Formats: sequence, C-alpha cells, structure tokens
Amino acid sequence: MSTGRDLSNRPNKIQIKDVSFDYIDKKSRFLALDHVSLDIKEGEFICILGSSGCGKSTLLGLLNGLHKAKSGEILLDGTPIAGPGPDRAVVFQQYSLFPWLTAKENILFGIKQSGKKYTKRERLAKADEYLKNVGLAGAAGKYPNQLSGGMKQRVAVARALALESDVLLLDEPFGAIDPKLRLELQELVSSLCTQAKKTVVFVTHDIDEAILLADRIVVMEPGKIRTVLDVELPHPRKRDKLVGTIEYEKLHRKLISSFYAHVEENIDAEVAL
Ligand code: ADP
Ligand code: MG
Repeated sequence: MSTGRDLSNRPNKIQIKDVSFDYIDKKSRFLALDHVSLDIKEGEFICILGSSGCGKSTLLGLLNGLHKAKSGEILLDGTPIAGPGPDRAVVFQQYSLFPWLTAKENILFGIKQSGKKYTKRERLAKADEYLKNVGLAGAAGKYPNQLSGGMKQRVAVARALALESDVLLLDEPFGAIDPKLRLELQELVSSLCTQAKKTVVFVTHDIDEAILLADRIVVMEPGKIRTVLDVELPHPRKRDKLVGTIEYEKLHRKLISSFYAHVEENIDAEVAL
C-alpha cells in the first residue's frame, strides 16, 4: 500500500484565509478569486491545478505579495504578507533571467538577494554548487541567449533555490519546455525541493505534472477551489514507475473528473474491476 509523506504534525507555513480578489479598471471589475481558503504545511509541496483563466496566477501573485487581497488575508509564518520579499522565491513560465548576466552571474544575483552574509569566495562556491545541482556545471559562463529553453529554466530554478528561502512559488515553469526535458526538470525540482524541505506552491494545468510533484493537489474552478486531493504516492516518484499503478490511475481519473466536472463516473468502482 503506497503512502505519501505524512506532514500532519508540521506547523502551517502559509494560511490563505477567506481571500477574495478583484481586478479593477476604470470601466469594470472582475472577481478573480472568491473566498478562497487553504492551509499549507511547512515543507509541503502543493500543486494548484486548473484550466486557463481560473485564477491560479492571481493566487500566486497574492502569495508573492504583488497583489493585495480585497478581503481576507494571507499569513506566512503567522504574519500577514505585506509585499514581495526574499523569504519567497519565484519562477515564472517566461524565462526571467537577466540577459546581460551569465548563468553563474544570474545565480550569484539570487545569492546576493538572499541577504545572507557570505564572503565572495563562499558566494562563488555556492553558485557553482547550484549550477552543478541543476546539471549545468559546464554552462557557467554562458549568457541566456546561448542557452536552450530547458537550460534557461534550469538556471531560473537554480537562481530561485539560491535565494535560500523557505518558500518557492512556481507559475507553470515548464509550460514551454518539450515533454522529455520537462519530465527531467520535474524530477529535478521534486528531488531538490524535497531534500531542501521547501514549502512549494507550483501552478500547473498538467494533471501528470501535479501527480508527479505534489503532496496535495488543489483543483481550481474559476475563482474558487473546487477540491483538494492527497497524493498517496511515495517519493521519489518516477513517471515510468507510476503510470499503470492502481493508485496513479485512480488519482488520475479523479482529477480528470474533477477537472472536467461534467464527466461523471464512479471512479472507485471502475478501477476495482
Ligand atoms: P490562470 O493563471 O489560472 O490562467 P489568472 O489568474 O491569470 O488565471 O486570471 C484569472 C482571471 O482574471 C482571468 O479571467 C483573467 O482574464 C483575469 N485577469 C487576469 N489578469 C487581469 C488583469 N490584469 N485585469 C483584468 N482581469 C485579469
Ligand atoms: Mg496563469
């Protein structure tokens, strides 16, 4: 019988309490989040799954502190989030590297942002270590325009990890990467984040990606959380070992029927056949 990680004794790292958010311009007002609540445990890996336009990026923007809630509040370690800060690292889908800095310099930027008092020698050693961790030891001196899409996202992940924050927020970071490389990056992020005990909020619209990575999957519908599902699969997870197992198929079906709410079926009965 497979089980996921037991995080029940951990304290809450993030508490999203009854949060609503409006996009307002001169002519209109659009309710993008409508009374959303969720507690996230320290060290937990959460995937936010939902179709385009349902408010995933908006929720991440609130966690990042770029947006302010219209009502409700978000607490980080018990304190309301007042704006962006080095306690939360962010990775976006678009490559957000500085084009005028090499891969190593981009990571050094992350290390400096951490505010930790490292000597120059320590910073350089750390940058090399992070490059190595994402499999890019040989690309230290390359500029972003000399790197493939997958390599750029590796550097973006390394730079986010270099911030040494407890919390990592990722918004469809591998959406533009081809499937094979994507799988490699997913497994890399999963193992690095679990080792480093990060609290991770990872936005995706890819069901398989969510199953591979998450302790819990939060399925959104427009403006709301539809359901939250535990992923009872042991780590480390490898896609080729998961696909075809009963636990995987069961969860996959549950997610599909929740993702496409009109698909009604008795999942448990069907899998039992
Ligand atoms: P997702 O990331 O799930 O695709 P978003 O959080 O980006 O969704 O958007 C949620 C909803 O809010 C969408 O309907 C989108 O059109 C709307 N929205 C996003 N950004 C803005 C904005 N700056 N002004 C007005 N509406 C917006
Ligand atoms: Mg989005």
